[in-house]
Amino acid sequence: MEPVQATLKKWLKTNKNFKELYSKLKQDVLNDSDIEAFLINHPELTSNDIERNLMKLYEYRSQSKNCRNCRSLNGCRNMIQGYSPVLEVVERDIHLSYKKCQYRINDERDREKTELIQSLYMPKDILQASIQDIDNDSERGQAVLELHRFIRQVKDGVPEKGIYFHGPFGVGKTYFLGALANSLKDFNISSTLIYMPELVREMRASLKDDSVNKKIDIFKKADVLMLDDIGAEMQSAWFRDEILGSILQFRMMEKRPVFFTSNYSLDQLEKMLATTRSGVETVKAGRIIERIKQVSHEVPVYGRNRRE
Ligand code: ADP
Ligand code: MG
Repeated sequence: MEPVQATLKKWLKTNKNFKELYSKLKQDVLNDSDIEAFLINHPELTSNDIERNLMKLYEYRSQSKNCRNCRSLNGCRNMIQGYSPVLEVVERDIHLSYKKCQYRINDERDREKTELIQSLYMPKDILQASIQDIDNDSERGQAVLELHRFIRQVKDGVPEKGIYFHGPFGVGKTYFLGALANSLKDFNISSTLIYMPELVREMRASLKDDSVNKKIDIFKKADVLMLDDIGAEMQSAWFRDEILGSILQFRMMEKRPVFFTSNYSLDQLEKMLATTRSGVETVKAGRIIERIKQVSHEVPVYGRNRRE
């Protein structure tokens, strides 16, 4: 069977109207500035070669190149979104192929990076936080300095200790976590961010389908673990000892950092953790606090309430 393009060409040539159409199409193709430049670069191509490959040149012409007139990947009008056509000459034959455009390359890189952040119940604005947007006001000064110090140290390997940020509601503690997670992406470091009250609920629910251990594993293995709002969760001895205790123990042994935010200082948190429905257990609470101190250091955050 003859190739479709060849049949079409023959047919076009025998029909008067189509003959005109064909010659117009050919003119358009040859007048295209990109194609003109391509042909100048390939003087070895005879008019016969060009004629034989006219449909490929036509397809090339109809596609947008170099994202010149594009604004985004979504606006791409090419046959395959995010791919632009490339012409090559192989043994006096013209080959047309498609390669990824810059927008597509950037988009794929961004997607890969987004996957470096895993989160459970974190607001969208926090996941988009950026370290550049943190103004270095004097009140939050120490906290911001500590955050920058961690990022500087990351260049030589992930530090053993994270930070336990504590301070009043709305000063930007959770925002710090999001900004940090986004900065760490540039170093290919994965973060897992979890809102503590939801973690307790999630773990309770997982008891039913036996997935608790699988989930704990995720929190143990993240390069950097971030526990948001510790102390705001419902206090339960089971969660404190079996879940939180086990995660912190593992990270402590493996020397992997944990970041925390809390409305409570470590002294205050110790009292909270001691009191559960099972009674008052100061030793068990003390053990958790010791582990928190092994995987982080305490930094107060002051400032105005940014939610107002
Ligand atoms: P906290 O966790 O201390 O209660 P958040 O981190 O939730 O406070 O911050 C409170 C609000 O202020 C949020 O809406 C957050 O997006 C915003 N915010 C905090 N820090 C900044 C910042 N540096 N730039 C812009 N918005 C911020
Ligand atoms: Mg918060």
